[in-house]
Amino acid sequence: MKIITKAALLGTAVILSACAAKTVTQPIRQIAVMTEESLAADNKVDQLITGFAFEYVRLTLEAGTHEAEWVDAYYGPEDLQSRATKSPRSKESLLADIKILIARIDAEVLQKETRADVLQRASALRGMLVAADTRMRMLSGEKFKFDDEAKGQFATVPQLKTLSHYDAILARLETEIPGTGPLATRVDAFNERYVIPKERLKPVFDAAIAECRKRTAQHMTLPNDESFVMEFVTGKPWSGYNYYKGNYKSLIQINTDLPIRISRAVDLGCHEGYPGHHVLNLMIESKLARGKSWSEFTVNPLYSPQSVVSEGSANYGIDLAFSPAERLAFERDVLYPLAGLDPKTAEAFWKLQQATEALSGARLTIAKLYLDGEIDRAKALELTQKYQLLSPKRAEQQVGFTDHYRSYVINYGWGKELVKGYIERGNPDKVERWRRMEKILSEPVLPADLAAQ
Ligand SMILES: [Zn+2]
Repeated sequence: MKIITKAALLGTAVILSACAAKTVTQPIRQIAVMTEESLAADNKVDQLITGFAFEYVRLTLEAGTHEAEWVDAYYGPEDLQSRATKSPRSKESLLADIKILIARIDAEVLQKETRADVLQRASALRGMLVAADTRMRMLSGEKFKFDDEAKGQFATVPQLKTLSHYDAILARLETEIPGTGPLATRVDAFNERYVIPKERLKPVFDAAIAECRKRTAQHMTLPNDESFVMEFVTGKPWSGYNYYKGNYKSLIQINTDLPIRISRAVDLGCHEGYPGHHVLNLMIESKLARGKSWSEFTVNPLYSPQSVVSEGSANYGIDLAFSPAERLAFERDVLYPLAGLDPKTAEAFWKLQQATEALSGARLTIAKLYLDGEIDRAKALELTQKYQLLSPKRAEQQVGFTDHYRSYVINYGWGKELVKGYIERGNPDKVERWRRMEKILSEPVLPADLAAQ
């Protein structure tokens, strides 16, 4: 808040001197009065939005008592959290207060304000509140169609292809993958040859994350005291998770319920770590929560438009950190020996991953059909095996994720498309791509901003 006020004062002083130079005939007293008025107005809006942001944090923490995973990360004042959790409002009164806050932001900030940075902040805050409204209505039993649920929680509706689009890709793979039996079984059997033995997981993941970090640090300045702890866990609905703890620290967990294939080391190292979730969170803490004292960024709800940028940039970050050839070379020369796998077979596995990448969008199409009740769970499992080329066990994990997180699944594939579209617009060089990446990691960004710019 102090920094915003200083910036506003400084900005006004510059405008005043520019005006004074151009309008020498204007009485100085009148300019002074105008300046005081505009200063007061700026301060009033700044004070309002600071208050709205504080209210948003409070209600988010209280909402977290109604759904354990609502609050994905919080690193603001502890007493605020303990007060919120001691006497939380009911779902009904939180819902009513969320609606009041949205209406006040519309009337008192968005319809009056002209400063771009304030509008950007207010729009982002509004998006978070609309997400909270949608999520709270879902918790209260309201049912949404897939697209409406996605729009409400994430401020975007994915453009999905029909499953028939993916049939041509399957037909091509049929001719490329040797063997008999269903394609999914053949591909899964091939992929299972690239599992990292359990006792080698740690050195392989340590090396992968270190490389992701090194490549990210070549393009972004990371705080000296940033760090993470990595753990291997079981019994989770996800394959990896970043728990951001504040003070530039993360706990990264990797789920070993199912055997982990060698390609997942770079995937998860970039996605959960660098330049993915760990970097996004520390950038937000550094630039917004600390740098601008924008308190709404001290809390990260799981279901909000921020998740589109978070998951989308974490997935895009893999391709940003490694070109396809660089990735193959690193995996073959460094990770395969650490995993005890034959480096001579690396290219064949890498080629298959590249070839099947084009099927990833089918996951969202299946999720939409399933969540909209157009297919039952057994059909969702069958289609997941067919179009994602998975064993029944892995398909079960994927559909289980959809059961648990519902339309959150759009944030991976669709979020990546939005982030890629923004960063690669005009085919910029590597330096510019990293610059754009840093920009969206450290500003309040809505999905519409990615599509519009
Ligand atoms: Zn993620």
